[in-house]
Amino acid sequence: YGDANQKIDYVFKIVLIGDSAVGKSQILSRFARNEFSLDSKATIGVEFQTRTVAIENKNIKAQIWDTAGQERYRAVTSAYYRGAVGAMLVYDITKRQSFDHIPRWLEELRSHADKNIVIILIGNKSDLEDQRAIPTEDAKEFAQKEGLFFLETSALEATNVESSFVTLLTQIFNIVN
Ligand code: GDP
Ligand code: MG
Repeated sequence: YGDANQKIDYVFKIVLIGDSAVGKSQILSRFARNEFSLDSKATIGVEFQTRTVAIENKNIKAQIWDTAGQERYRAVTSAYYRGAVGAMLVYDITKRQSFDHIPRWLEELRSHADKNIVIILIGNKSDLEDQRAIPTEDAKEFAQKEGLFFLETSALEATNVESSFVTLLTQIFNIVN
């Protein structure tokens, strides 16, 4: 997890977006520090976290930006999107509304971010299967239609969090090469 003494070949800016409480900050915390907290407060202050991973023998530093609670006020600014080459669009599989808002987030992303930004749709909290409100098939279909990658994750159980970032970073890497 440490970045010390590593030669960095690429730095990729990734943005996390989606409704409040879907688990964006915990996904980031799981990926960047392998930590999870059940009582996470609204994220304040921290702009981004980083983690370096090796993809095809290159060291890629992911600089991952979190919305710091701005999603409540629909105040995510264009500075947040500036320079981003990847985006994680997150909903909560137990909250219908968070999935219904995805087209809105996508529109926001497409109007503010670079045209070539790589986007992955993430259905988080897959550990709460008994409370599932969004069938996997529905999300898969939506993602296909919109040309997005798609995975379900659990930040709590650390399921697919690593693969989500690796999928995104690999795709970005393939585009820049
Ligand atoms: P954010 O507002 O999108 O950043 O959401 P947070 O990361 O703050 O998470 C909101 C709440 O959902 C917190 O209580 C988290 O502990 C919880 N949470 C986040 N990810 C998961 C998950 O994968 N499974 C479960 N069961 N709870 C989660
Ligand atoms: Mg947060």
